[in-house]
Amino acid sequence: MLTTEQMLGLDDSHLVAVEQAQLERRCAKAFSAMQLAAAADGIDMQIASGWRSFERQLAIFNGKAQGLRPLLDRDGVRLDPLLLSQADLLDAILLWSALPGTSRHHWGTDLDLFDGAQISAKSLQLEPWEYQAGGPNYRLSQWLQQHMADYGFYLPYQQDLGGVLPEPWHLSYAPVSAHTIFDVDALAAQLKQSPIELKSSILAQLPGLVERYCQRIAEPQLFSV
Ligand SMILES: [Zn+2]
Repeated sequence: MLTTEQMLGLDDSHLVAVEQAQLERRCAKAFSAMQLAAAADGIDMQIASGWRSFERQLAIFNGKAQGLRPLLDRDGVRLDPLLLSQADLLDAILLWSALPGTSRHHWGTDLDLFDGAQISAKSLQLEPWEYQAGGPNYRLSQWLQQHMADYGFYLPYQQDLGGVLPEPWHLSYAPVSAHTIFDVDALAAQLKQSPIELKSSILAQLPGLVERYCQRIAEPQLFSV
């Protein structure tokens, strides 16, 4: 079980280094075993993103709210944050980026993967087409569908359930992540004291945002690994 601080991305004491990334201990071990098995099948499984701190997620969120990072609609068309209401701006950001304190990347149990033999980290855009037939990560995707459950992993964002859009690159280590429970009060307290854009809109509808963007995910299969 993760502590509240670990869930909010404020504590990294449960992590170990895996290549360039950091992951929760059990997740790291499972990932390394899965990576080895994939390598035997000719796939160079690499981590695009593992653990991410609250601070880092805050920088991403504020960058989008301030127009310093590209803000996209659900079709990938660029939006101008200055032309949106506070509510629409918040929805546009959360479609693609988690609210700081709610990212599954805070936990160390979740990671984004790509096939390093087919595409470089620099060229990778983390867009669905890259994981579909004809895309550089298609073989990886197929391999994961077949084998990831053997190592305890699943895809929490498999289909559009009205929250986060499908992310075929985002895996979660179920034996740890399936037991996490969002502490909305602790999240509210943390956001209140943070220099976050759109703070009043966020705090006014926080339970609804957590339900929509954090809890509408695919059911994990519970494995005994
Ligand atoms: Zn991810």
